[in-house]
Amino acid sequence: MKFATKAIHAGVEPDPTTGAIMTPIYQTSTYVQESPGKHKGYEYARTQNPTRTVLQNNLAAIENGKHGICYSSGLGATDAILKLFKPGDEIIASSDLYGGTYRIMAKVFQDFGLKFKFIGLEDPAVLEAALTPRTKMVWLETPTNPMLRIVDIEAIAAITRARNILLTVDNTFASPYLQNPLDLGADIVMHSVTKYLGGHSDTVMGAIVLNDDEIARQLTFIQNACGAVPGPQDCFLVLRGIKTLHLRMQRHSENALKIARFLSEHPKVSQVNYPGLETHPQHELARRQMRDFGGMVSFTLHGDSLPEAVKVMESFQVFSLGESLGGVESLCTHPASMTHASIPKEEREKNGLKDTLIRLSVGVEDADDLIEDLRQAIG
Ligand SMILES: *Cc1c(COP(=O)(O)O)cnc(C)c1O
Repeated sequence: MKFATKAIHAGVEPDPTTGAIMTPIYQTSTYVQESPGKHKGYEYARTQNPTRTVLQNNLAAIENGKHGICYSSGLGATDAILKLFKPGDEIIASSDLYGGTYRIMAKVFQDFGLKFKFIGLEDPAVLEAALTPRTKMVWLETPTNPMLRIVDIEAIAAITRARNILLTVDNTFASPYLQNPLDLGADIVMHSVTKYLGGHSDTVMGAIVLNDDEIARQLTFIQNACGAVPGPQDCFLVLRGIKTLHLRMQRHSENALKIARFLSEHPKVSQVNYPGLETHPQHELARRQMRDFGGMVSFTLHGDSLPEAVKVMESFQVFSLGESLGGVESLCTHPASMTHASIPKEEREKNGLKDTLIRLSVGVEDADDLIEDLRQAIG
């Protein structure tokens, strides 16, 4: 089955009791048993919920994986993955990372004895040099946030596979429509479902998709034992969101490319980061690895003046200033003070993230209106 058909149909069956074409919201905490231990596969709603089961199966299908497991947030999913490890285990993560992922690694799990190294992963040779016999997982994002660099998943997977190290890809920025890391050799795909999968800025959720039965069993155990599960209403909203994922991603990508071209010709703009631009240093790799280039763009103005960047962000009429991304409406974020504030300034700057960088999550509005808004805001 092709992507659009899977997005709409995979895992979804008409409700057996009524024929309802939409999966019902099973808003229940428990399930009546016929006799002790004799039930229909559902015992308690932290452990299983039918709305969640349908969503988990749908997510597995669109990410080309065998198992889908949902959590109450993207960080809930990350937390579950990190609990697969033991004190002394080493994890290598890309330095251009979502701020909350850095925070849970460096400020929470480090205190439980896990060791983290944050390095640039655009050059796979750098990874080889950082590996030790205690390295158990490599964690990467691509495109990265907020610099929109591309990491070669296949090249990294060739290194991790050869040494039995797990490779996890945070596929939030691309969404399963643009990129399927499991097909490229990754072991685990993690999503902040809050973003493109939900797509309508109305839900917080996380998900993991993978093929390995034993790790899936452990992650399902952690889902139930630690309890970070999403509610059934949220599962319903995400199931509805996914039905238009392919349509939204096509328009996000189309609008973002137009905006990236507009910005790169603007005399006041010094740098535009968008993998769809031919001038992006990894444009060819992005073309190979992704179906299209997505809706995220970041840029800086000449002169690197913070007050000037702030003025642009305050002047938008159509773009809203706020954290998050991936919704139908266009958002603008100031990574240094918002999404990446938990990363120390020196770490941010080592990575090329200037305090004047503006990040756009380009929505699915009319591109002309978005460009007009940028034109008046930049002035
Ligand atoms: C938002 C985000 C997360 C965290 O997800 P939540 O749903 O907010 O917990 C992780 N990774 C990336 C790339 C994100 O954008």
